[in-house]
Amino acid sequence: MLLLLIVVVVPTIGVLWFVRVAMENEQLASRQRLTNAYRTQLRFVKHQLDAYWSELAARCEPRDDSVSPQRQFADVVTSRAADAVVYYDDLGNTLYPPPQSTSITAENSDPAWAEAERLEHEQNDAVQASQIYAAISQRTADTDEKARALQAHVRCLLKAKKLHAALDVVTIALNSRSLEQALDQNGRQIVPNVELMALRQINDETNEKFKAIYRRLVRRLTDYESALTPSQRLFLMKELTQLVPGSDSFPTMAGEDLAARFAAAHPIPSRDPILQRSQLPDGVWQIAAPSRHAVLLFRTETITETLLSTLAQDDLVEAKETNVRLLAPGQVADEQEFITIPAGPRLPGWRLSLALDNAQSFNSAVAQKNAVYLWTSFLVVLSTLLITFAIAGTFRRQIRIANLKNDLVGTVSHELKTPLASMRLLVDTLIEGDSFDEEQVREYLNLIAKENTRLSRLIDNFLTFSRMERGKHGFDFAFIDAGFVIKRTLEAVDERFRRPDCELNSETERDLPAVFGDLDALVTVLLNLMDNAYKYSNGNRAIVLRAHSRDNDVCLSVEDNGIGLSRNSTRRIFQRFYQVDQSLVRLGHGCGLGLSIVKHIVKAHGGHVEVESKLGQGSRFTVVLPKSASRIDTLSGVPA
Ligand code: ADP
Repeated sequence: MLLLLIVVVVPTIGVLWFVRVAMENEQLASRQRLTNAYRTQLRFVKHQLDAYWSELAARCEPRDDSVSPQRQFADVVTSRAADAVVYYDDLGNTLYPPPQSTSITAENSDPAWAEAERLEHEQNDAVQASQIYAAISQRTADTDEKARALQAHVRCLLKAKKLHAALDVVTIALNSRSLEQALDQNGRQIVPNVELMALRQINDETNEKFKAIYRRLVRRLTDYESALTPSQRLFLMKELTQLVPGSDSFPTMAGEDLAARFAAAHPIPSRDPILQRSQLPDGVWQIAAPSRHAVLLFRTETITETLLSTLAQDDLVEAKETNVRLLAPGQVADEQEFITIPAGPRLPGWRLSLALDNAQSFNSAVAQKNAVYLWTSFLVVLSTLLITFAIAGTFRRQIRIANLKNDLVGTVSHELKTPLASMRLLVDTLIEGDSFDEEQVREYLNLIAKENTRLSRLIDNFLTFSRMERGKHGFDFAFIDAGFVIKRTLEAVDERFRRPDCELNSETERDLPAVFGDLDALVTVLLNLMDNAYKYSNGNRAIVLRAHSRDNDVCLSVEDNGIGLSRNSTRRIFQRFYQVDQSLVRLGHGCGLGLSIVKHIVKAHGGHVEVESKLGQGSRFTVVLPKSASRIDTLSGVPA
């Protein structure tokens, strides 16, 4: 059993270990294959990115003089090529956004200005002052002065709560092409400022005048051909956005703000054509165009979130099921991002990472392969088990046969020795006697004859058993009278059973139907049963041999008043070599083969044996045989 366990368990453990290693290897190999494939893809993206940077930088370079830097700024920002761009001249001075101009334009020429300003600011007489301003505006030929006078006129009308009159000035007098570029003394355009002032006063988005002025002002602020300074433009954009929250009118406002802050913080910026962190606090990156006349500005999220999607839109990133990201320096890759590579020389510290959109499909491919391994191992283990059990079964049969042979040899030698020894004793006594007493000689010869008969029966049984075991027991079937079987049996035992302590009776039913069987074999059956009835009875034996019919069967029974059998023994007595009381064996009473021979023969006749027994009261063994000739086909080993 231990050997069997080792034979099964060791290869099973081996197979399971092998499968586990194979599964792990498969997972690693698949991951490696996939990693290699996607690394190539990521390198491709890197090259695309590099090309994209070159193309982007070229796109943002200052063009010929026909396009102003502010126009170019607006183009770059509105096309989302960069969050902002700052332009420089050959000397490195900022072209756009230009530094704040502090130039102050010419003084007002008209002496009425002083009077109007005194009335407005010192006397607080806005009405009077407004009239003087209006008069100046009409008198002067200078457009700047005219616009300034109109601005003051509007201011005073508003102070005097004359909103309608003020709006008329704004929408009519000031809305003239000639005054569009007019500047105040700080170099700021006057008209947009007055328009903002008017809007603040109205402060009602639904007002028609408000709407008209608002539209006009938006147009001025988004017109990058005008000479509006970036600082005034940004200021007005912010003011308007506050006045009309939620309006999305200025796509360049954030860029203007960024460019202005950058220019202020970087009087001498780095002109390296690599992406590097700017000094602005909120994660702004700068990269110079090759000509060094432009510095492009990007917010971190613009690079990480929109740059690659811009590539994808341009059909540069091809793989559908992958998700490629740009990781900023110090940003950690997600768990799913199983490959990262440096993003290229222009983006030092940046990394490109790749994750699978559908990591499950990868896992299921691996799982499929692993399932093949698992099934293979299961089948191998199963077949090992089957083969092992088949071999074990064969071994067990061989061992049983070997044991049987040993038992047989042991029993045969023991059983033969007893009658031979007693015959030898009798013969020796006769030979050694001085004279032959005729009566004693007869008695001894009778005893020798008895032992001889017993020996013959034993040998017969052994031979029958041996043939039976080899499956070579042939029967000579014929229709026979059951009464004749009884008669032959009685004749065989007559001599032995005719003793004072044994009463033998037989009862045979009249007109018993014929039985299809082997006469000698059936006599052997009854002789074995009779022998047992005799052997396992003491004192006054009463043995009855019967033949009678029952339903469709013919029954041959042997009844005794012997020691009987327990219920447990009754079930086992037909096993080979089984004996209830081993002490009887030593007395030479039998070898445990008789009933197994009985069972074999009866079975070959298509019948069975019934046992009724009570301990201490006796037993009845009944051989039940089918009476009909049509049952022949059920007989085993029967020649047709
Ligand atoms: P054996 O050669 O020992 O008689 P058998 O196969 O004929 O072998 O019988 C097996 C055992 O069945 C016997 O050893 C005996 O214990 C028991 N046995 C058989 N017939 C009887 C019987 N008529 N009464 C009691 N015991 C019996």
